Amino acid sequence: MLDAKVSELLNQQVNKEFFSAYLYLDISNYYEEVGLDGFANWFKIQAQEERDHAMLFYQYMHNNSVKVTLEAIEKPGLSFHDNMEPLKETLSHEQYVTSLIHNIYAAAFEVKDFRTMQFLDWFIKEQGEEETNANDLIDKMNLFGADPKSLYMLNSELGTRTYAAPSLTL
Ligand code: MG
Repeated sequence: MLDAKVSELLNQQVNKEFFSAYLYLDISNYYEEVGLDGFANWFKIQAQEERDHAMLFYQYMHNNSVKVTLEAIEKPGLSFHDNMEPLKETLSHEQYVTSLIHNIYAAAFEVKDFRTMQFLDWFIKEQGEEETNANDLIDKMNLFGADPKSLYMLNSELGTRTYAAPSLTL
């Protein structure tokens, strides 16, 4: 059995990852509406990845005989006024998720739960990549966002992203 606090934090993370999926679907929704279909594609795939993350936490809990409690998913509720705002929101959200993962890791470390620490290793690396990706998008938007031709090309590039299942399997 997992420690009560570790279990509670893992359970909360299921919800947080589903919220991330919901947030990125809403960002996809914004870009779809303004006609940037490549950006919309990129964030729709990002939403699929977040749903995968939620399912990994869900499965890890079940593999360790802990029942998952599914709570209500928060409403994204943001309105964006330009094409940069969703990217900045993405970066700050990923920094927040990194802090959550680190928090679970610290709780597992405290009770010498080496199995959970090992499970979380993948997410710690993943969060580094997510923050890098968000930073890259902000940089590219800063460089190219104001020029329609360059924005068209950036949009085309993001349109080529395809879904890949997570490399972590349980
Ligand atoms: Mg995630």
